Amino acid sequence: MSRLQDRVAIITGGASGIGEGTVRKYAAEGARVVIADLQEARGQQLAEELGPQTTFLQTDVSDEAQVAAAVDLAMSRWGRLDVMFNNAGFGGVSGPIEDLDMEAYDRTMGVLLRGVFTGAKHAVKVMKPAGKGVIINTASIAGLQSGFGPVTYSAAKAAVAHFSRCLAAELAPFNIRVNAICPGLVLTHIFTNPLGLQGAAADAALPRIDAAFSSWPPLGRSGVPEDIANTALWLASDEASYVTGQAIVVDGGITTGPRSSEMWERLATSFGMDPAAARPRPGN
Ligand code: NAD
Repeated sequence: MSRLQDRVAIITGGASGIGEGTVRKYAAEGARVVIADLQEARGQQLAEELGPQTTFLQTDVSDEAQVAAAVDLAMSRWGRLDVMFNNAGFGGVSGPIEDLDMEAYDRTMGVLLRGVFTGAKHAVKVMKPAGKGVIINTASIAGLQSGFGPVTYSAAKAAVAHFSRCLAAELAPFNIRVNAICPGLVLTHIFTNPLGLQGAAADAALPRIDAAFSSWPPLGRSGVPEDIANTALWLASDEASYVTGQAIVVDGGITTGPRSSEMWERLATSFGMDPAAARPRPGN
């Protein structure tokens, strides 16, 4: 039996990267999926490839009416909504705080935070009467530690994680589970976009981004969309029926922090010692 047989999901940002990987995973597990994304050509192409089990709706998640329309589409086409995956995102405004362009700030928050709120709001309108539902929000390790994204992006992602916890408490009595996923460094166009690369050039650049990142996570490789899609599948499935209010980190161990060997190396090097010789010893 497929793990999402006959379930209906909306995946925002479903035309690319983590969202696309999750659309493919959910469809393979029997779900019917609304792909809600700004990118029309990619979204349409994906829906055509996967067949009538999926449909595409061009959606800007910062526009509440468009998010409501995605929920309406799921209901009119398939009569239910089991899973809302609020995943759409981009790097947003960057640069020194004193130069922060507040319109760009509003646009960033509009997508990364308001888009998640409105996705939950309109999903809950149909999930409460159904007596069940699953909401999954894409946060980030940038919301847990500094150094993984611009400050506006990072603050928005921290808010997404905490929103998920608080909303989980509000919605638990209605049998609606809410969780966030905090991906680490995942090979997607979110990294090619700041380099000014699009389309085939963006795809062609992914191996170079992999080369730049792969030795960083303790597990020794970059993340791929399927790593996050597997977590989103588990959270959507009945296997996670006792899991709510969590911000689940999927990062190959990056947020475990620096390895202790690095500390001994710094210590030994500053005293001109062989790093292998600098280790804790019995006594003082
Ligand atoms: P991606 O660029 O491959 O995909 C993002 C998708 O979101 C694109 O298809 C884009 O068109 C869509 N999108 C952007 N703005 C939108 C809007 N206003 N309305 C609707 N769709 C919109 O990047 P990705 O890495 O797959 O990003 C997915 C999510 O994962 C984002 O929320 C991102 O912040 C988060 N994330 C990514 C990483 C990573 O390392 N790739 C790490 C942590 C968190």
